[in-house]
Amino acid sequence: MVKIVVVVEVKAGEVRKPTLELLSHIRKSGFEADAVIAGENVKGLADRLAGHGAGTVYVADDSSLSLFSVPAYLGAIAEAVEKSQANQVWFSGSESSKVLAPALAARMDGAYCGDAIGVEMEGETLTVDHPAMATKVIQKVRFRNEGLKVLVIRSGTFDVEPAEPKPAHVVELAAPALDDRVVTKEVIQESAGEIDLGDASTIVSVGRGVKGPEGIEFVRPLVDALGAAYGATRAVVDSGWMPHNTQVGQTGRVVAPDVYFAIGVSGAIQHMAGMSGSKLIIAVNKDPDAPIFSIADYGIVGDLFKVVPLLIDEVKKVKS
Ligand SMILES: Cc1cc2nc3c(=O)[nH]c(=O)nc-3n(C[C@H](O)[C@H](O)[C@H](O)COP(=O)(O)OP(=O)(O)OC[C@H]3O[C@@H](n4cnc5c(N)ncnc54)[C@H](O)[C@@H]3O)c2cc1C
Repeated sequence: MVKIVVVVEVKAGEVRKPTLELLSHIRKSGFEADAVIAGENVKGLADRLAGHGAGTVYVADDSSLSLFSVPAYLGAIAEAVEKSQANQVWFSGSESSKVLAPALAARMDGAYCGDAIGVEMEGETLTVDHPAMATKVIQKVRFRNEGLKVLVIRSGTFDVEPAEPKPAHVVELAAPALDDRVVTKEVIQESAGEIDLGDASTIVSVGRGVKGPEGIEFVRPLVDALGAAYGATRAVVDSGWMPHNTQVGQTGRVVAPDVYFAIGVSGAIQHMAGMSGSKLIIAVNKDPDAPIFSIADYGIVGDLFKVVPLLIDEVKKVKS
C-alpha cells in the first residue's frame, strides 16, 4: 500500500503554498498522506494540514528548532517516516529540501529524485518527470518498487484545492538531539514582506531591458497591482539591481506559477530552464526575434517603458 509523508514548509508562521499543493494532489489522487512539521510554535498549523488531507500530523515543536538545522530537522523527519511506516516522502522544492531530501534518502537507504515536474502513480509504481539539460529534455524516472522513495516536487506543479481546517490527529515527536558540528546562528531575510517566488501564483520578472535600478522601480507598480512576486534574470542580479534571492533560472529559483510576466527578458536557455513550466507566459520585448517569444503564450513587441504603464492601467481597471 502506498503511504506518503509530506514534509511541511513553514514561512512566517504559515504553511507554504507548495506544501498544500502536494497534500491536495495526494488527496485528489486517492492516496493516503501524513505530514511532518518541525519548528517553533508550529503545532497550531496541524488543523490546516488535516483539512488538506493529512491523516496524522507529526509535530516536532521546540525552541531549539526555531532556526533551520539540517541534523535536527532530518532527525524529526526520519522519526516521522518510521512511525508512519511510509514508503514515500514528498518534499516541495526549496532551499531546505535541496539539502534535506537527499540526506534523508541516504540516511534511510532510500531512492531519491529531485526537481520533479510531474508524478504518475500506478499502484506501488512511482514514475516522475524530471527535467534535465536546462529543460531541453524531460526524463521519465521510475523508482524501484521496494524501499523508501524520496522526491522533491517543483512548486506550482499541482493546484491547491480549497479546504477548511479540521481537528488533526497529532503525534508529538521528541525534540531531536542537537548536533553542534554545524549550528545556524541567525537567519537574515533579504526582502522582508515581499512575496516569495515559490509561493506566488503570479510572478513578474525583469531583465536587462529595464536598463537599471530606476527601471526596476518603474515596473514595481505592475508587481504590486497584480499582487505578484518580483523576479529577475541573472544579468539583473549580477548587476546588483535586484537581490540574489530573486534570480529565476538554472542557477537561481525554479518556478511554475499560474502566470509569468517576462519584461525586457531575452529568454536565454538558462533563464527559461527556471520558468518554462509556468502555466501562462506573457512576454514584453522590443525585439520580435527575442527567444522568449518562442515559449510565450502572449507576446507584446514593444518598448517596456510604454507597455508597462498600459498594463498597470488595465490591471487596475479589471481589479476595480
Ligand atoms: C552557467 C550559466 C548559468 C546561468 N544561469 C542563469 C539563471 O539562472 N538565470 C538567468 O536569468 N540567466 C542565467 N544565465 C545568464 C543567461 O545566459 C543570460 O545572460 C541572461 O539570462 C540574460 O538576461 P537578460 O534577459 O536580462 O538580458 P539580455 O539577454 O541582455 O536581454 C535583455 C532583453 O531586453 C530587451 N530590451 C531592451 N530594451 C528594452 C525595452 N526598452 N523594452 C522591451 N525590451 C527591451 C532586449 O531586446 C533583450 O531581449 C546563466 C549563464 C550561464 C553561463
